[in-house]
Amino acid sequence: MEAEGNLQLLLQNPDLPADLKHIAEKVLRSERITFDEGVTLYEQGDLGYLGVLANYIREKRHGDKTYFNRNFHIEPTNLCVYDCKFCSYSRLLKQKSEGWEYTMDEMFNMVTKYDGEPVTEVHIVGGVLPQYDVPFYQELFSRIRTHRPELHIKALTPVEYHYIFKKAKIDYATGMRLMMEAGLGSIPGGGAEIFHPEVRELISKDKCTGDQWLAIHEEWHKLGGRSNATMLYGHIEKYWHRVDHMEQLRQLQDKTGGFQTFIPLKFRNQDNQMSHVPESTVVEDLRNYAIARIYLDNFDHIKAYWAMISRTTAQLSLNFGVDDIDGTLDDTTKIYSMAGAEEQHPGMSTKQLVELIKHVGRYPIERDTLYNVVTDYNDFEFPETEKKPQYYKLPVIN
Ligand code: SF4
Repeated sequence: MEAEGNLQLLLQNPDLPADLKHIAEKVLRSERITFDEGVTLYEQGDLGYLGVLANYIREKRHGDKTYFNRNFHIEPTNLCVYDCKFCSYSRLLKQKSEGWEYTMDEMFNMVTKYDGEPVTEVHIVGGVLPQYDVPFYQELFSRIRTHRPELHIKALTPVEYHYIFKKAKIDYATGMRLMMEAGLGSIPGGGAEIFHPEVRELISKDKCTGDQWLAIHEEWHKLGGRSNATMLYGHIEKYWHRVDHMEQLRQLQDKTGGFQTFIPLKFRNQDNQMSHVPESTVVEDLRNYAIARIYLDNFDHIKAYWAMISRTTAQLSLNFGVDDIDGTLDDTTKIYSMAGAEEQHPGMSTKQLVELIKHVGRYPIERDTLYNVVTDYNDFEFPETEKKPQYYKLPVIN
């Protein structure tokens, strides 16, 4: 395997500092690295070194396979009772006239718009408002499930769950059971930000804490559910806060095994209360993916949202530990574009996604939410008439 050869070559480099050599040897032996070694990687690991280690792990687990899915998003509202400083999305305090609040029927109609389309997942996440409560989501999930039972519902984060369960006066275990019974398929990774209170208090102090975020995922895992995890990086946190965040995820994963994918989210500074904070560089983004791949030895997948970091950086990331670049999206999300992402109308046809992956020598696999293979695109020939991605305008409440 070429990736192993590169790691062996790296180990023969007489100029490699002893600390980094020790970590590289551990990676070669598939040994877990410690918290301090995680910090060392951030402080001392250059891009080339980290890429060799991360790509070795990536190819050992997945070879060249690179996953994506066919999905669409529903964002119930961009109004929110919370006031996270990094949020470019929420419009409660600022331009309320730019807000939207979908009704149950409007959201259900968005699902029926995809009838007959080969999508496998609906991803539902947005702001937090009182009318979106436990009975509302029970009804929404069960209407979708009844209408299209095979469509996987990946919905809401612990930020929403903590809020709606508290309002309903039910504990997390009861709440997650009710959601599962209504048709919830899995939990996306959002709302994690940075767990450590030193940072969380400053950037998103009024929503669920890091411990509460983890507790909700734990209850969901206990029910046999799967979920993802994110980390919002590149703002005011220190390197050790990132390692602490991943350490807490690693510990919960040791306990439950319920996480599928870790998704580092780059802080974007457009139109939010942290616009004075500079964004991380592409080099730092790639280093961060690589360190996540090395540190989270019990996570199967590391994902890069192409819509958030640009198509080119997503291609590069496939050499730095990433094996999943998310979905076709169909221009149904505003979360990235409102934060200043390069993609203002994120949508790619399946053919475009497949070509993006093949252009950097990787092997495209369409997966469902739970990583079952839907289509192997390695030797697939697309018909001439493949459908172009479609766009529709989001309504604005005046
Ligand atoms: S990040 Fe989420 S919880 Fe925080 S203000 Fe924005 S929409 Fe609300």
